[in-house]
Amino acid sequence: MKHSGTRPATAWWILALAGFLIAAAVYGVQRGGLNNSPFSERRAAEDLRTLVLLGPRPAASEAIGKARRYIASELEKAGLKPQLDEFEAHTPRGLRKMVNIRAVRWGSTSAIIALAGHYDTKIFDFSFAGANDGGSSAAWLLEMARSTAGLKLENTLEFLFFDGEEAVVEWTDQDSVYGSRYDVDRRYRSSALGNLKALILVDMIGDKDLNIRKETQSTAWLKTILWNRAQSLGYSKEFLNDDQEIADDHVPYLRAGIPAVDLIDFDYPYWHTAADTLDKTSGRSLKIVGDVVYFGLPEIDRHVSQMK
Ligand SMILES: [Zn+2]
Repeated sequence: MKHSGTRPATAWWILALAGFLIAAAVYGVQRGGLNNSPFSERRAAEDLRTLVLLGPRPAASEAIGKARRYIASELEKAGLKPQLDEFEAHTPRGLRKMVNIRAVRWGSTSAIIALAGHYDTKIFDFSFAGANDGGSSAAWLLEMARSTAGLKLENTLEFLFFDGEEAVVEWTDQDSVYGSRYDVDRRYRSSALGNLKALILVDMIGDKDLNIRKETQSTAWLKTILWNRAQSLGYSKEFLNDDQEIADDHVPYLRAGIPAVDLIDFDYPYWHTAADTLDKTSGRSLKIVGDVVYFGLPEIDRHVSQMK
């Protein structure tokens, strides 16, 4: 009686302790899962550093060629098959060879959700590092390509790195967004434009002091999903409720009737100056945008499925 009496008591304590540990572990995983995506702040910051150390990366430069090889090799490491879309752009300085980089992770439909950004930097007569402007979008896209490997979506996810976002001389409709204009045209010519159901563009999202405003031309349902997600993750300070109109790589898609949103922090004093350097950026900002998009994607995916 004594032994049989103490044994159940011991078992009860072991069970209680095991139960507590399991509950704590589940709670921890849930907390991690709810607030923290697999997007790695450290890896994104490393990509950004690698790109910036290549030097200024304007379209058709040797350095952008190196950036392209780095991006392609990292996409391959992430299990993707990068495709290079080469084209000749008519610029005010003549024909320039430009190259968009694309990689696709197939879902169970041919409907595409694209994550996009530019990897070129603006040409200046000073050494322009383009850490935030050109670097941050490319680094973010690479880490998104890695961190979404285990994300189950019904539709297809595409990663789209634009060349030639920047004007060769001065920003006009003709001298800007060469890569995105080419991509819309390419899809149209191959009768594939209709497969593209949503485009999420990022630009200048590496600013340490992150302030993303709602870009007015961007598609309302995409802004609603992403801003709601930002709020639920506790990023209302970074995703503000103010409006702002910006011309960027999303405009050619909007003009073609494709839903698109531009996540951009244009509140950046170092924009297009020699001071747009690594020290003004932070991997933390890249991760905030990464988490918001990562956790927004399932809802965007459901919305796209309902569109068909
Ligand atoms: Zn720029």
